[in-house]
Amino acid sequence: MLSKRNFFPFNLLNAYPNLRRFLRSDWFPDRLNYGFTFTFFAIVVAMLFLAPQTRDQNIALNFFWAWWWPLILISFPFVGRLWCSICPFMIYGEVVQKLSLWLFPRQLKHWNRDVSERWGGWFLFGLFVLIYLWEELWDLQNTAYLSAYLLLLITAGAMICSLIFERRYWCRYLCPIGGMNGLFAKLSMTELRAQQGTCSAECTTYQCYKGGVKKGEGLETNGCPLYSHPAQLQDNRDCVLCMTCLKACPHRSVEFNLRPPAIELWTTHVPRTYEVALLLLLLGGAFLHRLPEITSVFGLPTITAAFFPHLAVSLLILIVSAAIPLVTYGIMRSLYFLTIVWRKNCEDNQLPFSITACKPRPFIQLAYGYLPLVLGANLAHYLRLFLQEAGRVLPVTWATFGLDGSTLPIFIAHPAVISFLQGTTLIFSVLLTWVLTQKIARQPWRSLMPQHLSAVILAIALWIVIVAPT
Ligand code: SF4
Ligand code: SF4
Ligand code: SF4
Repeated sequence: MLSKRNFFPFNLLNAYPNLRRFLRSDWFPDRLNYGFTFTFFAIVVAMLFLAPQTRDQNIALNFFWAWWWPLILISFPFVGRLWCSICPFMIYGEVVQKLSLWLFPRQLKHWNRDVSERWGGWFLFGLFVLIYLWEELWDLQNTAYLSAYLLLLITAGAMICSLIFERRYWCRYLCPIGGMNGLFAKLSMTELRAQQGTCSAECTTYQCYKGGVKKGEGLETNGCPLYSHPAQLQDNRDCVLCMTCLKACPHRSVEFNLRPPAIELWTTHVPRTYEVALLLLLLGGAFLHRLPEITSVFGLPTITAAFFPHLAVSLLILIVSAAIPLVTYGIMRSLYFLTIVWRKNCEDNQLPFSITACKPRPFIQLAYGYLPLVLGANLAHYLRLFLQEAGRVLPVTWATFGLDGSTLPIFIAHPAVISFLQGTTLIFSVLLTWVLTQKIARQPWRSLMPQHLSAVILAIALWIVIVAPT
């Protein structure tokens, strides 16, 4: 891995002073969150419990699955973890933290960084597995009160951690949605960073990190809620774009940069095993969401009525999808060793060929090359919901309140348009996967051919179960 990023970032805050003014103002994110998101979330959860339980009759359920999921997936390549700056789960965590400190003043627990780094990721991975199975086995996408429980479960995690630990421990280490956001945020074309030169030469207070009172241009804050230092940030996963550091910095050191998408993955990135496991899980999730299509492709009977067969098949889908990149890697390594053997023979027997030139990089590095495909696969799945159901806002809202809105206008895309967009998304994802894999590995195409082919095979399989049935 390269350790130096030799590109010239384009600081959007200098180019657009109004953006800087907005991000430093009380509006972002506090007024937005406490004025709107806090109440909006409560209304959504109440509607999930009280209104009709299916997506075609409950606007909150429609909003969660047909709006929120596709839009957050689309947002990752542009603004990374921005969702986490306006996330209601954590707003409730923050409210509870402030309230409890006001009622019972005390020192909240410090973080054990070593233990959290080692186990936090696996905890959120486990939660994500359970959420996938829950979603699939109990049809959360079409059962409003269970979707409400899912939202409340994540909110409860944020609230409990905020009562025990200082700052946003849940967001840094344990939140399953945060884990996914952090993973996809690596692909973003924007980043928040600080100028290392300014920080080391001019700063003695580090109030972006520690918090503190107003100093010069720097406003009073509690410091970075994730305990990240913007000058040392090397991975978008460690920043929730709350802009606390931007407000706190008295030296105008904090930048919000336009950058080559995913640059950290081939420069400063430190791969982590749990992240790779999560990546493979998210790949499997895209297939799992298409279980009916998969059973129909294989001519199997519908299994969703029987719990244990349904569970077994769901687990099988997750495992098989994750196994494809792993098996591919095994093939790459085998080819490499075969090459060594054949090269030796070549010296002895004048065999004129070799299969692969370079020793494959560790799987934990190369696996990140699949990230665009994983994002594209999930987006392709949710595009159908988005383009077929999001535009039914009016009749679904009417139905939510028990009214007949069947004559109200709807805005839905033609199935051919949906297929086209899904297909384009998958093709584009494969191309980006090839490019990213090349950038990460920095090895000849021939050496990485098995991984490139496995991306194609996965995309074809996704096409069969996602695009073809639309
Ligand atoms: S990490 Fe989870 S709880 Fe925290 S802001 Fe992001 S989505 Fe919300
Ligand atoms: S970002 Fe600002 S407050 Fe933080 S260390 Fe750099 S100069 Fe200091
Ligand atoms: S680095 Fe800055 S924007 Fe990112 S989480 Fe910390 S305070 Fe918020």
